[in-house]
Amino acid sequence: MRLPAPILEQFASQIFQAAGATPEKSQLVAQHLVEANLKGHDSHGAGMIPSYVHNLKAGLLKADADVTLARDNGAVMVFDGQFGFGQVVGRQAMNAIIERVSSTGVVCAGVRNCHHLGRIGAYGEQCAAAGLVTLHFVNVVGHDPQVSPWGGRERRMTTNPFCAVVPRPGKTPVVLDMATSAIALGKVRVAYNAGNPVPEGALVDHEGVPTTDAKVMYEEPFGALGPFGGHKGYGLAVLCELLGGALAGEWTAQPENHRSHHIVNHMFMVAVDPAAFGGLEKFHAEVDAMVGYLHSTTPARGFDRVRVPGEPEQEALEERTANGIHIDDSSWAGIVRAAERAGLDAAAVPREAP
Ligand code: NAD
Repeated sequence: MRLPAPILEQFASQIFQAAGATPEKSQLVAQHLVEANLKGHDSHGAGMIPSYVHNLKAGLLKADADVTLARDNGAVMVFDGQFGFGQVVGRQAMNAIIERVSSTGVVCAGVRNCHHLGRIGAYGEQCAAAGLVTLHFVNVVGHDPQVSPWGGRERRMTTNPFCAVVPRPGKTPVVLDMATSAIALGKVRVAYNAGNPVPEGALVDHEGVPTTDAKVMYEEPFGALGPFGGHKGYGLAVLCELLGGALAGEWTAQPENHRSHHIVNHMFMVAVDPAAFGGLEKFHAEVDAMVGYLHSTTPARGFDRVRVPGEPEQEALEERTANGIHIDDSSWAGIVRAAERAGLDAAAVPREAP
């Protein structure tokens, strides 16, 4: 199935409305998910709809919830997402942080109890559009762990994303936005649904033996997803767990805490106004010069050119805006079933253009 982004976005929005969300919130969530598809991250795009509908029906995702400011200490703000759509409460928290940074120059924030925040880069980009530099440490809880610690074969954490963003006025910001697992779990799901192998080095089976078969994450006997970058990536994952979960959030993946079929993100973030450091013009000139220097590198064999983080997403956005979004058959069938479960009329299901 290949659909133009506006059609997919409208369909996604209709599904959430049929499941009980307001048109405004449904639209925000649909826009975020389809933007993830457009930016090349199908793992965090429309393929998430079935789990969101499941969680809405199970009462785990609160369709009407808005973010609340749980603690306010000037430059330290703690928000509670109240298990609302991450895409809604996350955006609301960013708006409040952006406003506060204009008077404090820096904000350290906890954004806790959000139903799945989706693509974390979206929040970094929202802040970058306001001229801010941000860092985001996120843990993922509410369900069984999937990621083994470096050197272990059992699951102890999840895909804990890390994101850091540097604004570049009038240009694509530098956006490092990544799972700290070898690959995002959603990418394993997409491979499993499509019957494709995952890249080598990402998974181990139940005996700790490396495998490319995505079924070890979905069928018994279960294996595990490993951390990216060996012990160093694992270290960053631990920090996401401890800062996102224990400092800013309410709980980590340790087994005394809640585990159902929930997807909860807790996020610790820092937002900085580069102007507070002085020399805004020099800062942007230096960033541009360094990015230009990186771009000037002669490509290694097998590479077309050198990019900075955020550019692959920009390229995907241009290509998919022009050519539409491809959704594999199994993921599409899941989305259509979710639409039906939400109570949407079958006539609303879009057909592929001939
Ligand atoms: P990825 O591996 O595709 O990309 C990671 C980063 O590397 C990106 O910033 C990208 O711009 C950069 N990059 C990729 N190729 C590059 C190149 N050739 N040169 C320079 N930079 C390059 O991303 P991922 O780890 O698969 O994560 C996918 C998404 O999943 C992210 O948006 C992340 O926020 C999201 N995620 C969310 C959760 C959650 O619970 N909400 C959990 C895990 C992941």
